[in-house]
Amino acid sequence: MTDNVFDLIVVGAGTGGIPCAVTAAKRGAYVLLLDKEAEIGGTLHISGGHMSAAGARRQRERGITDSVEAHRADINRISEGARQDLLKMATDLAAPTLDWLEENGFEFAPDVPRIVYGHEPYLTARTYYGPEEGRSILKVLKKLLDETMAQNRLELRLNTPVQGLSLDEGGEVNGVILGDGTKLHARNTVLATGGFAANPELFERLEKKPLASAAWRTSTGDGLLMAEKVGGAVAGQGTYLPSFGGLPSPDGSGVIRFSDRPALIASERPPYEIYVERMGKRWIAEDEESIDKKERALAALDKMTFWTVFDSVALEKGKSMMVGWSTEKFKSEANKLPGIFVADTLEELAELTGIDSNGLASTVAEYNADLIAGRPDKFGRAFRPAPIERGPFYSIENHGVTLITFSGLDVDSELRVRKSNGQSFQHLFAVGEILGAGIMGKSFVGGMAVMPAIAFGKLVGTKLSV
Ligand SMILES: Cc1cc2nc3c(=O)[nH]c(=O)nc-3n(C[C@H](O)[C@H](O)[C@H](O)COP(=O)(O)OP(=O)(O)OC[C@H]3O[C@@H](n4cnc5c(N)ncnc54)[C@H](O)[C@@H]3O)c2cc1C
Repeated sequence: MTDNVFDLIVVGAGTGGIPCAVTAAKRGAYVLLLDKEAEIGGTLHISGGHMSAAGARRQRERGITDSVEAHRADINRISEGARQDLLKMATDLAAPTLDWLEENGFEFAPDVPRIVYGHEPYLTARTYYGPEEGRSILKVLKKLLDETMAQNRLELRLNTPVQGLSLDEGGEVNGVILGDGTKLHARNTVLATGGFAANPELFERLEKKPLASAAWRTSTGDGLLMAEKVGGAVAGQGTYLPSFGGLPSPDGSGVIRFSDRPALIASERPPYEIYVERMGKRWIAEDEESIDKKERALAALDKMTFWTVFDSVALEKGKSMMVGWSTEKFKSEANKLPGIFVADTLEELAELTGIDSNGLASTVAEYNADLIAGRPDKFGRAFRPAPIERGPFYSIENHGVTLITFSGLDVDSELRVRKSNGQSFQHLFAVGEILGAGIMGKSFVGGMAVMPAIAFGKLVGTKLSV
């Protein structure tokens, strides 16, 4: 390493950046890994850390028959419009990547692989996670990073926000620019700065939807903006989808706490409640099992906001309305935690929540009357355990939640960033959520953000080590 000249600069010491830097350095490259935060890890601090892979050692040991072809077919069944070249790479690399994590000490949760229902489910059990979710992955990456730094081939600089990309006379990227104007040069540069769901202006420009975000604070789209500034192209606009429901933020910041989330998966908790929009009207069969259909219907609602409405029978007899909460906790948080309401009458509930009172009253009356008379539900709902009639009445305010951003930098099949004229930068690469959701297409596909981030990080690190 001569002064500020490296084989490889990786911007972002998170999910994709660490595997990239570590792999390149272990194979002989001199690597500089930069992060704007005081600690490594990025979104892994809060991510569920679910990863999907077909044919991994763990899956074989559990006697589950699977193949990468079946994994790909399942993703194409769940979603439309996935980029097939990237999808092939991601599914081919998934099992070796998971095995690599395991060889380096990754601890599996006891029940994995399993089919997970929080997103549209796979047909086969191929989703894995650790007991500490994203942090289980981070433990392994940190260990690998420490080992590599001890071999003096990798320099990590924290608290170092990168502000821009440096260009040579031919317009090719030759490194990065820091806040004080310092230029750091490298043969190759990898952007692994994450998505942009913590940047409301950029979100408004690219996704054109109201932002209620559960993203990690660093996801401000820095790498995307830097690449755009030197001519990088953005792909995937118009594919955005929110995750299904989360409480409003207690401080009004628009940041959703994913840790306190309503239990809205019909196959896991058959719903006693109805869902209404601001005018008090229902808008979908609440027992619809396809989470994808629900997310799409939610995306079309005003401000992507709806309220669940239920009575005391539902609270006592149904399963917990909030993931991991007891009924007692729910009752004690009502009218205290923003977004959880209780009232003696439906009129009072409407006043508290801001739902149109007449609309709510007639919707509940119609729902109850159809149920009691044995008439079919107007949305085709089959699970109708009881009318909503015994107070106190409750409501949870739900927003469509952004976990990941779907637009991202356009790349070629080598993961080189493409310019708006279709040509690729020769020495600028990108991995992780900065690529958007091209691998998933237009839907959420479980475990297909974290896994490709790690797999592509390793792939690019291998390629750029020589
Ligand atoms: C609550 C939540 C749960 C999720 N659960 C899952 C899940 O179970 N499975 C799944 O597949 N996906 C999940 N996701 C998505 C997934 O976790 C992320 O897409 C993925 O971790 C992003 O990885 P990354 O490497 O692109 O970015 P990150 O891991 O966020 O890393 C980016 C790094 O870049 C740094 N950085 C940013 N800008 C700069 C700059 N200018 N200069 C220097 N450094 C910079 C940041 O500080 C950060 O360390 C979840 C997301 C959220 C928010």
